[in-house]
Amino acid sequence: MPWNRPLIIGLLVVLLALTWWRLQPEDEEIRRSRLIMGTVVEIMAGGQDSSKLESAVDAAFTELERLDKLLSRHNPDSDVSRLSESGSGSKIAAETAEVITLGLHVAERSDGTFDLTLGRVKALWGFDKEEPSVPEQEALAAALADIGPTALSLNGQEVSKRAPHLQVDLGGIAKGYAVDRAIAILKKHGVTSAAVNAGGDMYLLGQRTQRSKRPQHAWRIGIQHPRQKDGVLETVQVRDRAVVTSGDYERFFEQDGVHYHHIFDPQNGLPARVCQSVTIIADSVALGDALATAVFVLGPEAGLLLLTQYPQAEGLIVAADGTLHTSPGWASYQVAP
Ligand code: ADP
Ligand code: MG
Repeated sequence: MPWNRPLIIGLLVVLLALTWWRLQPEDEEIRRSRLIMGTVVEIMAGGQDSSKLESAVDAAFTELERLDKLLSRHNPDSDVSRLSESGSGSKIAAETAEVITLGLHVAERSDGTFDLTLGRVKALWGFDKEEPSVPEQEALAAALADIGPTALSLNGQEVSKRAPHLQVDLGGIAKGYAVDRAIAILKKHGVTSAAVNAGGDMYLLGQRTQRSKRPQHAWRIGIQHPRQKDGVLETVQVRDRAVVTSGDYERFFEQDGVHYHHIFDPQNGLPARVCQSVTIIADSVALGDALATAVFVLGPEAGLLLLTQYPQAEGLIVAADGTLHTSPGWASYQVAP
């Protein structure tokens, strides 16, 4: 049979289409990490070619470093340091005001178990130092005077302190806020699939891209078992959600055989004893971060009651006795074992 023109053109079109398909860049996934906010922050991003992903991830890290400077007590020029050192209050950046607004909201709803004015208590325990130790009872009592959900008041970007000695600590919420901002930067750069993890404060954007292996699928996150090193307590499946865990095994020391960790009960300034760990799945990492800390101090019953006020958040609580407690919507994220 002689070759006819339509057949040749048809074959050429098929050949061209195949070549084009082969030359399409594979959707890549890159993974980078940096030490920021006293923890290893890891960013995975996918859904674009790698040079675009690199610049997006770079920009996200730059934002995390900027926020760390603004919100950390370690930087003497930060908003938090200026506010802590001033007698009556100070003007702060819009971002700091946003963090404080959300923090005060959770402080109020949690009856002050979440508290933004534990700066002096935190310094007394010295968790950021080489050798933390149990503070004197009197020193703790003095540091707890005047704290509470109304110790700070915010008027636009002006913060007033109820008492000059109050020291601000945003350690229970700032990391979460920073991860939210990093995600916003990644999205602005066109990234559609990402995971940002700042030492247990995570956000999972979109679905995981793995074109070459299997179709896109939701992010699967293993939740750390609080009493088994590298043990997985449960696996959850999420997209466009924050997953935040607070545990008594994260930062701690032992003195005279007693385990002391870094989440304090504002009633007495001592490590809260009612939970081993709390995981919150929420629409923002800042909210998840604050709620994980608050629920950790409240314990399973009062903690689950607090969560009923936040329909956008679900929680898994491991109580001090090792029993598991979940909010009603938690099951929708669970992956069958
Ligand atoms: P991580 O820092 O490991 O993410 P958390 O989110 O639970 O852990 O926060 C613990 C930090 O929060 C502490 O280091 C301290 O800075 C601060 N913090 C401790 N207790 C409280 C509390 N009751 N309310 C608010 N912040 C707290
Ligand atoms: Mg927290």
